[in-house]
Amino acid sequence: MANLRFDALNHVLRRPIIDFPISKELISDYYGEAVFHDKAMQQFLPREIYKNIKECIVTGKQLNRDVADHVASGMKAWAISKDVTHYTHWFQPLTGRTAEKHDAFFTPTEVGESIESFGGDQLAQQEPDASSFPNGGLRNTFEARGYTAWDPSSPAFIISGTLCIPTVFVAYTGQALDYKAPLLKALHALNDAAVPVAQYFDRNVNRISATLGWEQEYFLVDSALYQARPDLMLTGRTLFGHSSSKGQQLDDHYFGSIPDRAVAFMRDFEEESLRLGIPIKTRHNEVAPNQFECAPLFEEANLAVDHNLLVMDVMEKVAQRHNFRVLLHEKPYAGINGSGKHNNWSLSTNTGVNLLSPGNTPKTNLRFLTFFVNTIKAVHDHADLLRATIASAGNDHRLGANEAPPAIISIFIGSQLTRILGDLEKRVKDKGMSPDEKTELKLNIGKIPEIMLDNTDRNRTSPFAFTGNKFEFRAVGSTANCSGPMTALNTVMAKQLITFKSQVDALIDSGIKKDEAILRILREYIIDSRNILFEGNGYGEEWVKEAKKRGLSNIKTTPHALSAYLHKDIVEMFESAGVLTHEELEARNEIYLENYKLKIQIESRVAGDLASNHIIPAALEYQRKLVETVRGLKEIYSAKEFETLSAPHRDLIGKVSNHVSKLQMEIHNMIEERKKANNMSDSLKSSSHYCDKVIPYLESIRTEVDKLELIVDDELWPIPKYRELLFTR
Ligand code: ADP
Ligand code: MG
Repeated sequence: MANLRFDALNHVLRRPIIDFPISKELISDYYGEAVFHDKAMQQFLPREIYKNIKECIVTGKQLNRDVADHVASGMKAWAISKDVTHYTHWFQPLTGRTAEKHDAFFTPTEVGESIESFGGDQLAQQEPDASSFPNGGLRNTFEARGYTAWDPSSPAFIISGTLCIPTVFVAYTGQALDYKAPLLKALHALNDAAVPVAQYFDRNVNRISATLGWEQEYFLVDSALYQARPDLMLTGRTLFGHSSSKGQQLDDHYFGSIPDRAVAFMRDFEEESLRLGIPIKTRHNEVAPNQFECAPLFEEANLAVDHNLLVMDVMEKVAQRHNFRVLLHEKPYAGINGSGKHNNWSLSTNTGVNLLSPGNTPKTNLRFLTFFVNTIKAVHDHADLLRATIASAGNDHRLGANEAPPAIISIFIGSQLTRILGDLEKRVKDKGMSPDEKTELKLNIGKIPEIMLDNTDRNRTSPFAFTGNKFEFRAVGSTANCSGPMTALNTVMAKQLITFKSQVDALIDSGIKKDEAILRILREYIIDSRNILFEGNGYGEEWVKEAKKRGLSNIKTTPHALSAYLHKDIVEMFESAGVLTHEELEARNEIYLENYKLKIQIESRVAGDLASNHIIPAALEYQRKLVETVRGLKEIYSAKEFETLSAPHRDLIGKVSNHVSKLQMEIHNMIEERKKANNMSDSLKSSSHYCDKVIPYLESIRTEVDKLELIVDDELWPIPKYRELLFTR
């Protein structure tokens, strides 16, 4: 019998390390060379047009058609100078990754020749065949077609000889079918709401953007081993596998030296990323064996999201050159830490100020406190929404599994800031603070950055933590498009800042001084949001109990979490911010539920097939060998000796039978539950049935298979084991 596992292992053993040649160039020589960025624009666009487009990028103003024509022509010339033949609109459908439809520049002419053409129309708009992208019913009720429209704020780039133009993807009615359109609207809303608040402190502020610095975790696995695991190939995670005798218990992987093969891969994919203008800066081992992390410098949020999606694609492509597969799944291996994507978030002004950075003057510190406390209040008031934005079948394995933040949204701010908020709460009474008290408060804030940045006051178990000059949303899953959480976070912040401004202005109008008015409102917010602040261990059982007492939600599964999108307040908030309409939210909710259901459905099918076609036959083969041995023993020994000598074999035969028959029963029952779920037309019901009734079978089937793995002869085991997947380098 051919054994996929041994073929794969042989392959791996014979594999030479690809020594990726170190580029002689300096990074600064090729950084961004595949991007139509500032320098390329200056070179390929007429001066006036360049000024025009720069203004549009900064202000978000619409470009007129004439300018678009000029930009297209410059972009085409630039692309052709780099041997590009095709172009595509690059967009982010709600499937979670990116989509492209390539068209050639060439256009045949009447005389049988052809020219390279690309005009403003092609740059501005394209009509991909939208029918095969998820739409949650939106296009059924309206026009069937969708189109993509250019997002000039994210520069075009070249991948594999194709010019890629970042675009939004919308239905003909204008409703969003993607992640980018609502994100851009949320960033716009945030700017409008935050500028007037920032102007309390500095009249020169006229633009505020959200910044995002993501940290991407991933696993590497040898491609031969990957291909011998149908579950990894089809679901991105291992559905079976007994834990390896050595796992991550020695804590010897984190920040350890990176294996050569992995380094060669990293250098290669980082170089590609740098050519694409993605400022990848950090790489290190993660907690689990064969788990790693990469992170760029932070950027404006929309650009950072695009760069994250690009990096995920580049990693997958480059990994194949190195005979690796990248596992981006949140939980590829049971019992081993999963992967997340920390979203570091802050607000930055046109005057170059980070609004979440404590300053060293009383004025800048009041500004810091304002944005800091407003963020806490916004997150407090919309914790369920933020929980919904990180919900996915993959992330359900991590949240609350003592390796990632729990499904309870709380905020960590560190001891120093806790004390400062406590002070503020105590002292800012209606009578107001004395000038001395105010100065003291503000001076204390000045000490924060040093304390936070030296890493002593960080809590890694918190889903939403302040880390010195930014908040870090740590519960985002590794496969997620950061747009989901970023759209929500920026929208709730916009709403919060609008409320804040009107409350402070009301006090000022009643004759209270500005600083005093600000402090009073902040004090109310601190009292209102106290419940969500938590400094302790987020992984502990205690916290689950404590959070319940505090009335915080602990929503463990995706179908349940997603309902937050349809809460009346949330719908009103998104609508009034102009980010998403009620219909768009319903469509999204529908798509996410359906996506969840399909993922579990696929896992359940793969588990059934893999157990029936790979595991059970291997177990029965082992049993057959045992039976043969027993027969042999019977032939050569007396009845009495046989009784003793064959006991272990007969015991194993019985055990194998036992597990196999349990497996068959569980598989049968799982299929019955799947049928029930598939017959439910309501998405919430159907996906909840998958969650509550099908997933438990995935677990019980796994238990039987993993027990068999411990019994069956290693020679016969058909799929690579955990120790091979995790420790082969
Ligand atoms: P870690 O969380 O692994 O300890 P750091 O806290 O040093 O790492 O930083 C992680 C990320 O924070 C980096 O990707 C960085 O770009 C990002 N970051 C730093 N400042 C900001 C900011 N003002 N806005 C958004 N992201 C930021
Ligand atoms: Mg981090």
